[in-house]
Amino acid sequence: MSSDHFHDPIGAALESLRERFVADHDGEVASYIPELARVDPEPFGLALVSAGGGSYSAGDDRTRFTLQSISKPFTYALALCDHGLEAVLDRVGAEPSGEAYNAISLDEETGRPDNPMINAGAILTCSLVDGRDADTRFGRVLELLSAFAGRDLEVDESVFDSEATTGHRNRALAHLMFHAEALVGDVDDALEVYTRQCALSVDVRDVATMAATLSNAGTNPVTGDRVVAPEVAEQVMSVMATCGMYDASGEWLLRVGLPAKSGVGGGIVAVSPGRFGIATFSPRLDEQGNSVRGAAALRAMSTELGLHLLHRTHHLEEELAAGTVDDRAGALVVRLSGELEFTDAERVLRSLVSGPTPDRPVVLDLDDVRGCDEVASRVLRATATTLQRDGVEVGVVDSHDRNLLGEGFEDHVDMATACGSFDRSTPGA
Ligand code: GLU
Repeated sequence: MSSDHFHDPIGAALESLRERFVADHDGEVASYIPELARVDPEPFGLALVSAGGGSYSAGDDRTRFTLQSISKPFTYALALCDHGLEAVLDRVGAEPSGEAYNAISLDEETGRPDNPMINAGAILTCSLVDGRDADTRFGRVLELLSAFAGRDLEVDESVFDSEATTGHRNRALAHLMFHAEALVGDVDDALEVYTRQCALSVDVRDVATMAATLSNAGTNPVTGDRVVAPEVAEQVMSVMATCGMYDASGEWLLRVGLPAKSGVGGGIVAVSPGRFGIATFSPRLDEQGNSVRGAAALRAMSTELGLHLLHRTHHLEEELAAGTVDDRAGALVVRLSGELEFTDAERVLRSLVSGPTPDRPVVLDLDDVRGCDEVASRVLRATATTLQRDGVEVGVVDSHDRNLLGEGFEDHVDMATACGSFDRSTPGA
């Protein structure tokens, strides 16, 4: 869509981010993998894929780069699918190390790496992927990462060879873990899988789709394939939130507030849970190894659009204000909408129960409610029960007949019936 920004406001917003930061030439391309030192430092691409499957991009959105560390959260997902959280946590921690990506962050006694987003933890994660040999294991990694991306990914063999022949530090890390019996199985196999996944060739649109799959609770919103279970997506995003940005992870969460992972190939992937996945690519890196332009663009975007994970906006106050006294039946009608959760239900509770007891029947209009989680359902039910105990009649309107508040609060099909019942039971109300 990058060619048609006039009709594409989201692509246009990405394009304007690109224009704002493209003149920044700070940073250096990664040079410790010889093949990466040769990449063109100039490209800058951004892509966003919504949790509903819309794709938008700007700039160099077709330029290929290697995933590098961006592969780590996705292989972690595979280890979680194979063994479950407890077994994986026994072998790889989930604590931010506060150290560089290639640090020897291993528990002194057990050799357990701090987290799966640093090299040591990622190599160990590769050793956890089920499969009889490196080929089978990598085949499974490739299959899963391709499902995340919605297309068959391939390895950039020259980057793979370049790192395989020079990656002495990663080899040393793997052998240290093997020595401490933290890594069991074949050390070379684990290294081969790890180095191959780092060399997967992608563009920003692929990476944004991978992130959108996490954002959409593990289902790829473009292909419709369920790639991992919702709880696995949640676990992966948690580790990205705390450990994804090397030794800048804490400040990243503070300032940007989006689960993210960057790679020394110049890519950054970030997720706005339930909203979208986003990816940036620009090869010059800051001292922590994060893409300078990519980090700046994501930071601006998050601040300006209020995307921080802990930033909450609720519109229920307005909706409650829109709860009206229905003249026909003299009922206080509280209209609710959207996905109800604790906060919504607690506001209803506060406005109906904490203040003076309503002097007329209350109708909870749930017609426009899309869903109601367990906590919200319980709080609404408690609200209704408390009102009844105080002598207030309560009706529930839900033409979808979902019985969201449970037994005793079966829905009235429509407002007229709900209010009509008060007409009969509370004459003159
Ligand atoms: N393949 C790179 C390495 O192991 C990945 C590092 C990164 O992207 O942080 O050194």
